[in-house]
Amino acid sequence: AIKLQNVTKSFGSLTVIDNVSLEAGDDEFLVLLGPSGCGKSTILRMIAGLETVTSGEIHLGGKRVDELPPSDRDMAFVFQSYALYPHMTVRRNIAFPLIMRQFRWWFHIPFIGDYFKRRIENSPEVRELVERTADTLALTKVLDRHPRTLSGGQRQRVALGRAMVRQPSAFLMDEPLSNLDAKLRTAMRAEITQLHQRVGGNFVYVTHDQIEAMTMGTRIALMRDGHLQQYGTPREIYEKPANTYVARFIGTPP
Ligand code: ATP
Ligand code: MG
Repeated sequence: AIKLQNVTKSFGSLTVIDNVSLEAGDDEFLVLLGPSGCGKSTILRMIAGLETVTSGEIHLGGKRVDELPPSDRDMAFVFQSYALYPHMTVRRNIAFPLIMRQFRWWFHIPFIGDYFKRRIENSPEVRELVERTADTLALTKVLDRHPRTLSGGQRQRVALGRAMVRQPSAFLMDEPLSNLDAKLRTAMRAEITQLHQRVGGNFVYVTHDQIEAMTMGTRIALMRDGHLQQYGTPREIYEKPANTYVARFIGTPP
């Protein structure tokens, strides 16, 4: 479960998120929707801990997290421009968070560092987790290739795999499909929805695309200028828009 309680964010005298409250149960797919500049990324970044909360509280799984550092929040973040490591294989890219979890300073030493990284990568637990993740994302056949040899959709799935491998209790995604062409985007939407159905947990997904929101979300928070306009299921928002702004944005016939 994820809960925002009267969350406000100001940069100096500028308030960009104004008193937003919402609550999504376990296994909901929450979409933050709205036009450019309405504050979607800022909300996501506060949930992730990459931005502080000016006032209000954020709870995850019944625990208050807004004062915890990002690394203690048990969340994985997928950005719009997912950066894979070009010199590492797909396997190493996915295993990377697990390798870094056992980080020691000598990892920086050439050869010696690489020896230890390979040892972690080849340990039975890490292999098993990486291979299970690759299987879920249909990446098994490309595990030993480098990112430059993959298609855009495959690269996107590697970025998802890297986030999944830590088995986080919440998944945060900020317009992760905006770099893909229309056809791939449609395919990846379905894949992310299936991923959510398979692994469960809280997903929070940012988009400005109302079709993406309606097809993927189980709950939609529609924002405008830092204000929450409406929060509900896709059906509630479509059938009972709270105001004309919502109706226009969603495309409800008058
Ligand atoms: P987009 O769809 O374009 O990504 P968004 O809904 O994600 O937009 P945010 O990035 O959350 O919007 O920004 C919301 C508002 O907060 C914008 O007006 C932006 O200029 C402002 N803002 C964001 N970060 C900062 C910052 N560090 N300092 C000052 N203003 C900021
Ligand atoms: Mg944004």
